[in-house]
Amino acid sequence: MLMPAKHIDNALSPIARKVERAERLTREDGLTLFNSSDLLTIGRLADLANQRKNGDRVCFAANQHLNPTNVCILRNTCVFCSFARMPNEDGAYTRSLDEVFAEADAARDNPTREFHIVGGLHPKLSLDYYLEMFRGLKARHPDVHIKALTAVEVAHLARIEKLSTAEVLRAMQDAGVTSLPGGGAEVFSPATRATIADRKLTGDEWLAVHREAHQIGLPSNCTMLYGHVETMEERIDHLLALRGLQDETGGFLTYIPLAYHPDHNELGEALGRTGTATTGFDDLKNIAVGRLVLDNIPHVKTHWPMVTPFISQVALGFGCDDLEGTVVFERVYHEAGAGTPMWLSYDEIVGLIRAAGKTPVERDSLYRTVRTFEDWVPGQRAAPKEGPEGPTFHIEHRGQARGKGKRQLPVVAGVVEGLE
Ligand code: SF4
Repeated sequence: MLMPAKHIDNALSPIARKVERAERLTREDGLTLFNSSDLLTIGRLADLANQRKNGDRVCFAANQHLNPTNVCILRNTCVFCSFARMPNEDGAYTRSLDEVFAEADAARDNPTREFHIVGGLHPKLSLDYYLEMFRGLKARHPDVHIKALTAVEVAHLARIEKLSTAEVLRAMQDAGVTSLPGGGAEVFSPATRATIADRKLTGDEWLAVHREAHQIGLPSNCTMLYGHVETMEERIDHLLALRGLQDETGGFLTYIPLAYHPDHNELGEALGRTGTATTGFDDLKNIAVGRLVLDNIPHVKTHWPMVTPFISQVALGFGCDDLEGTVVFERVYHEAGAGTPMWLSYDEIVGLIRAAGKTPVERDSLYRTVRTFEDWVPGQRAAPKEGPEGPTFHIEHRGQARGKGKRQLPVVAGVVEGLE
């Protein structure tokens, strides 16, 4: 039986006709989608857009996260971040190259195909440290792709080495990096960035680094951190900026909406949201609207460490064709309160995808098929329950978030007043 018309948001009808004709959506369309509560219609349209591009295939990567340092010169600037530490702060760490290689050795017992390497903006770690790391990882694990350094890390290295960002990117590529992660793109709006990440890259600077990467044949990924202080207008403008660069270069592989987590950071404390997260409704809507607006980006990924494996599984029917992978030891979001497991096994991922009626496909960093799972029998290669062990696989949360010294969170205070 058809759904009674009163449950369908009539404002979505013209958008539905456009999606059915595969027409590009406008800024107004995007805003209408974000402002609608008709999640099922939005999801159905996003599913149609995804099916046209990717059919029933849902890919995932067997990946391991490496975070060489959590020391960051913007620790007191990015008020949404729970990962960074000042050099002498409790919990600050900087790995030697041997420690990074030892941590990466967990890949030997796993089917790892990708190292995902991001960290803080350390005031002293040189470009050579990273290049040696990439070369060393490649020598030890020649079949594992290296996805490394966000745009803000690239710009930081360029600044301290007095090089251009293009020179840093070329050196990274020569040392074995095959793609860039999409992090560091909170919301491009200058007002929002001034509130939550003053002094970090502007949206235009973030896009410029990715444009340069694409120009030298280094594909990248793009993100949007949502669920903090941004407006719906800012969300859509952010997506349109990503779409604009993709029209120009075609270098983005996937779009990943990232759900803000408020624990152990100043923004969460100032907003009084510690212990909460985004809602499942918003998580699914962000996936779906991203799929509909970003008509030129091939893939949309759901990040289960942030939204839970079950929301990620449901997202596969809301326009999403990529389930974030095994993610061996994700640290950045778990420091911000993500209550999800530290990794998922092949069995769990394949099971989630199959149970959603989709076809699992393991991919590499460049979205090439590594293997399919027609003959996969659950239980044949379960990950060890305990996962990797040792001091580097341990998370110690920051103390209660607070401004440094006498700082009273001035930027956040204005926003909180505005919200009340
Ligand atoms: S978000 Fe990145 S740049 Fe900002 S404080 Fe955290 S680690 Fe540093």
